[in-house]
Amino acid sequence: MQTDSNQKIENTIIIGSGPAGLTAAIYTARARLEPLMIEGEEAGGQLMITTEVENYPGFEEGITGPELIAVMRKQAERFGTRYITKNVTKVDFSQQPFKVWVKDTLYLAKSVIISTGASAKLLGLPSEKAFMSRGVSACATCDGAFFKNVEVGVVGGGDTAMEEATFLTRFASKVYLIHRRDSFRASKIMVERVLKNPKIQVLWNTEVIEVLGDTKGMNGVMLKNTEKGETQKMDLQGLFIAIGHKPNTDLFKGILDSDEVGYLKTKPGTTQTKIPGVFASGDVQDSYYRQAITAAGTGCMAAIEAERWLEANH
Ligand code: NDP
Repeated sequence: MQTDSNQKIENTIIIGSGPAGLTAAIYTARARLEPLMIEGEEAGGQLMITTEVENYPGFEEGITGPELIAVMRKQAERFGTRYITKNVTKVDFSQQPFKVWVKDTLYLAKSVIISTGASAKLLGLPSEKAFMSRGVSACATCDGAFFKNVEVGVVGGGDTAMEEATFLTRFASKVYLIHRRDSFRASKIMVERVLKNPKIQVLWNTEVIEVLGDTKGMNGVMLKNTEKGETQKMDLQGLFIAIGHKPNTDLFKGILDSDEVGYLKTKPGTTQTKIPGVFASGDVQDSYYRQAITAAGTGCMAAIEAERWLEANH
């Protein structure tokens, strides 16, 4: 198919390059769809800020997040995936072919797989960024096991914070749950579990105002009492930020349906969005599991669905 301008129309454009997008690329490339991946300027997604990944099947000894992404990327490239290392700035899915812009450059496609992921919300402290993956983490499931027999902190008062604090007691000698208010928004049962756990101590009305450390990594935090304004230093080997996630869906506002937080809605059991030919996979449509392996799984689903949709419609 050609447009008036004779511009090439891609079979499928994949937006985003975490495990969901790269798996979709491997599958669509092996289906000879010659996918074009617009991988973003900070390609690779959340795994790029993860140190050791020990729960991704196939890597007995574990693998670092960036290495895992690099292997997947090469694998997708081997079958013919092409990459553009830029950010998509605008999309128009109102008619075929779909339009995807990178600034002034327009790309056309018969199908689109969205895998732009989600980002963990952070406190926004420069020191938090400096010690990311060197004590500071946004994922207890990923990094918890590296904190055996040491004291760690968890920031947040929602279900994620409760879950992460409880999970971390398997490894850490003590978990301080640091919350800015005097009550949790988390569900009662999860709060009860936390309050009953002798290894967890709640620090109410408390904010982390700085992460402290040296060349070896973080070794403490500066805390501030939100009521009295007093500050206090505390020795901690790890700090888990659990204050929620933000799906990367600004591009699709008003175009695709999303839930109240912004996660894209897909037809249950599929990766289909409300627009035929546009699929969503990975964390951008999953606020619940948020694992590399589940993202990869839905990336595979999106590729198979896109392939079948293209066969039936083009
Ligand atoms: P939430 O938005 O529910 O909670 C975020 C928490 O972080 C709040 O307590 C909030 O404080 C605090 N917070 C936000 N910003 C800051 C900041 N800048 N500094 C300090 N604290 C901050 O996010 P969750 O990730 O916990 O949960 C998201 C959704 O997923 C919820 O619907 C939850 O129920 C669900 N979920 C369910 C689970 C389960 O059922 N097993 C497990 C995990 C999540 P404040 O309260 O003061 O606003």
